[in-house]
Amino acid sequence: DSSNAAAKSETEGENKSAEDDDKEDKAAQSLLNKLIRNNLVNTTNQVEVLQKDPNSPLYSVKSFEELRLKPQLLQGVYAMGFNRPSKIQETALPMMLAEPPQNLIAQSQSGTGKTAAFVLAMLSHVDPNNKYPQCLCVSPTYELALQTGKVIEQMGKYYPEVKLVYAIRGNKLQRGMKLQEHIVIGTPGTMLDWCSKFKFIDPKKIKVFVLDEADVMIATQGHQDQSIRIQRMLPKSCQMLLFSATFEESVWNFAQRIVPDPNIIKLKREEETLDTIKQYYVLCNCKEEKFQALCNIYGAITIAQAMIFCHTRKTAGWLAGELSREGHQVALLSGEMQVEQRAAVIERFRDGKEKVLVTTNVCARGIDVEQVSVVINFDLPVDKDGNPDNETYLHRIGRTGRFGKRGLAINMVDSKMSMNILHRIQEHFNKKIEKLDTDDLDEIE
Ligand code: ADP
Repeated sequence: DSSNAAAKSETEGENKSAEDDDKEDKAAQSLLNKLIRNNLVNTTNQVEVLQKDPNSPLYSVKSFEELRLKPQLLQGVYAMGFNRPSKIQETALPMMLAEPPQNLIAQSQSGTGKTAAFVLAMLSHVDPNNKYPQCLCVSPTYELALQTGKVIEQMGKYYPEVKLVYAIRGNKLQRGMKLQEHIVIGTPGTMLDWCSKFKFIDPKKIKVFVLDEADVMIATQGHQDQSIRIQRMLPKSCQMLLFSATFEESVWNFAQRIVPDPNIIKLKREEETLDTIKQYYVLCNCKEEKFQALCNIYGAITIAQAMIFCHTRKTAGWLAGELSREGHQVALLSGEMQVEQRAAVIERFRDGKEKVLVTTNVCARGIDVEQVSVVINFDLPVDKDGNPDNETYLHRIGRTGRFGKRGLAINMVDSKMSMNILHRIQEHFNKKIEKLDTDDLDEIE
């Protein structure tokens, strides 16, 4: 009967949450990052450069003028509000725009300007008078390809002669036709079909091959092979460019198969630290008590904006409901939401439309919480074996050096088990987590 079905789907939802959220699509995460990002990630780290030819001079530029771009492109760059190249662009752009073209493998976290860099390279190398594809760009998903396409359109706004087409499933072309567009962007499967099976594209005429989000790409079975098969059809003279946000061994192996004789640029992530964070814990017996403690905290201190993390979707949903009943403006970010919906929730929270964001873990990964002064772990972060997830703990409450604002983290402990987790987290970071008495809150302000 229906109540049974409802109960069943609820438990399924419950079982799913932690683990499914956990291995949640990298592609969705990456898309979310793109949708919510509206400026560069700042970093004080220096780029590491490994040149193919260590004896050749290393050029780096501090302005877009130095790159001698086509005026239409410079105009496009400025119209996007870019004043100067980002850290990675300072070195990547001169390499990509050099004559003869150089191959590049570049790694830096999302938001550091990789997409803008290779879009500029593609637009610079195209000759719009030749009415055939000259640049191929492969992305892991349709949605990510569309995002890159938008950047091409923005940057190429004053260069309308350059045309773009999407090689994505569902985009059916007439048999025997030849593409006239200059840039083809799409997913590996369709791109391969268009190059080999249907011959819409003559791969021998390609001048620039871009493989974006290599780490996301290899997470999907088949993408790696398809990409390599496309790469093999391209001429030796074709410039090969590969980008990735992370660089584990598997990505590196793949990168080397795609990009011969590469220059390599790496930009390390800014380290997060707990140094400027006051950490507390609150002892409770159950989730209702945790909620009560939360209310006491809200009654005692002024909180501009807070993020509250729960372990499961069910708890997050419950807590959001209780909080709004108390009169809080609450936003709920949950695993079953579409990426676009999530982006909208995050944007509203960032704009200050809601003061509290309740979420499960994965949804919030990668969100900059600069303006959030208080982070509450309603449940402590644990991995799927129930061990403390130190990395997630640090990521939830830590700050990078640049945003060294002081912050407050409050951990809710409701069992021997979670107390044990707390102790282990405390040991791991070697930073004391103080006990907080929520009936006497004078001390935290
Ligand atoms: P990535 O591909 O590494 O994730 P993007 O190229 O998407 O990074 O850039 C991240 C954000 O920063 C985008 O909103 C983009 O428009 C912006 N951006 C990129 N390069 C610059 C720049 N040189 N100056 C200002 N903003 C930039």
